[in-house]
Amino acid sequence: MLSGKTALVTGSTSGIGLAIARKLAANGAKIMLNGMGNPDDIENIRAGIAAEFGVEVCFNGADLTKPDQIATLISDAHERLGGLDVLVNNAGIQFVSPIEDFPIEKWDAIIALNLSSAFHTTRLSFKAMKDKGWGRIVNIASAHALVASPFKSAYVAAKHGIAGLTKTIALEGAEHGITCNAICPGYVLTPLVEKQIPDTAKARGITEEEVVKNVLLAAQPTKKFVETDDIAELVVFLCSDAGRSITGSLQSIDGGWTAA
Ligand code: NAD
Repeated sequence: MLSGKTALVTGSTSGIGLAIARKLAANGAKIMLNGMGNPDDIENIRAGIAAEFGVEVCFNGADLTKPDQIATLISDAHERLGGLDVLVNNAGIQFVSPIEDFPIEKWDAIIALNLSSAFHTTRLSFKAMKDKGWGRIVNIASAHALVASPFKSAYVAAKHGIAGLTKTIALEGAEHGITCNAICPGYVLTPLVEKQIPDTAKARGITEEEVVKNVLLAAQPTKKFVETDDIAELVVFLCSDAGRSITGSLQSIDGGWTAA
C-alpha cells in the first residue's frame, strides 16, 4: 500500500513508535527509525525490520529536544531515503508530579519533546511535501489532548498543544495534498506507562496494583489497554489513499475513555 514511500517515525526504538515503524515497513515503506537506547539493541531492531519486510531501514539517533539535531535528522532522512513522504511525530516522555513540586527542567523537556519537536520536524519537511503535492503527517497525541488528569501538567499541556498544531498544519497543507492528523490513544502498556505507575502510586498514596486497576484502567470503559498494533493500523490507514480527506482530525483510540 505504501510501496515507494518513505517514512520517518520519531521515537521508534520502543513501544508505539516501533509498532508503527514495523507496520509501515510491512506495507512497503522505506523507514527512518529514531530514538534512544542501547546501540546493539537498536541495530537488531533495524536489521530485523529490514530483513522481515524487505525494505530499506535506516536509523538516526537525534535527540529531539535539540532543534539542531532535528535538522540533521530531517536532512539525513532525505539523503538516505531519497525524500520524506510520511512523518510520524511519536517520540514522547511523561513525568508525574503535583504542580507545586513539578521540576522546571521536566516541564521544559516535555514541552521540547512532546510538542516543539513536532513543530521542528514539520517545518523542516513541509516544503518538500508541498513541492511533491503529497504528504502525510501523523502526530501521536493522547487522550490527554482532549481531557486532563491531575499531576500531569506538562504532558497534558503539550498534548493539548499538539492538537492545535495538528489542525493548523492540516489547514496549511489542505490544498497541497498533505494531510495532518493526531491519534489520541488511551493507556497502552509500553515502557512509558510502566515507568509512571510507581510515581502515580506515590503521588496518590496508593499501591501500584491500585494504580493499574483504579487509575489507569478505571478511565477506560473497555477495562483493557490499547494495543500498539491497533494504533499502527490506524496510522497506515491515514497514510493510504483512502485517508486523503481525513485531515485536521483528532482520532480517539481509547477504549471509550473520552466518551465518558
Ligand atoms: P516509549 O517510552 O515506549 O517510547 C518512547 C520513544 O521515544 C522511545 O523510542 C524513546 O527512545 C524515544 N525518545 C525518548 N526521548 C527522546 C528524545 N529526546 N529524542 C528522541 N527520541 C526520544 O513510549 P510510548 O508509550 O510508546 O509513547 C510513544 C508516544 O505515544 C508518546 O508521544 C506518548 O506520549 C504517546 N502515548 C502513549 C500512551 C501510552 O499509554 N503508552 C498513551 C497515549 C499517548
